[in-house]
Amino acid sequence: MAVVRGSCHCGNVRIEVPDPPTWVADCNCSLCRRLAWRVAYFPPEQVQISGETTAYIWGDRMIGIHHCPVCGCGTHWESLGEDFGKMGVNARLLDDFDESTIEVRKFNNADN
Ligand SMILES: [Zn+2]
Repeated sequence: MAVVRGSCHCGNVRIEVPDPPTWVADCNCSLCRRLAWRVAYFPPEQVQISGETTAYIWGDRMIGIHHCPVCGCGTHWESLGEDFGKMGVNARLLDDFDESTIEVRKFNNADN
């Protein structure tokens, strides 16, 4: 395990994940294409988020999409009920993240 840390721009929200992501998702759903997230997936119990976040919930209300209320950076998403066995972390916030050195998988969710 090689813990990777990250934070939003203002430092209010801090993130810790157990390993550097080996790939990230570039999703084209109606929200992600606006936010330009690069999402890395981890089991929720392996991710530590500290600091206050605000959740945006829309559509089918299955997930909350969190951001820092101070600087606005998107931080993570998590299930609101159903156990997906994973949550999404915005890899752009992780220290030393460089998408030119990692596999970026295009997720085609343009209908959502
Ligand atoms: Zn912030």
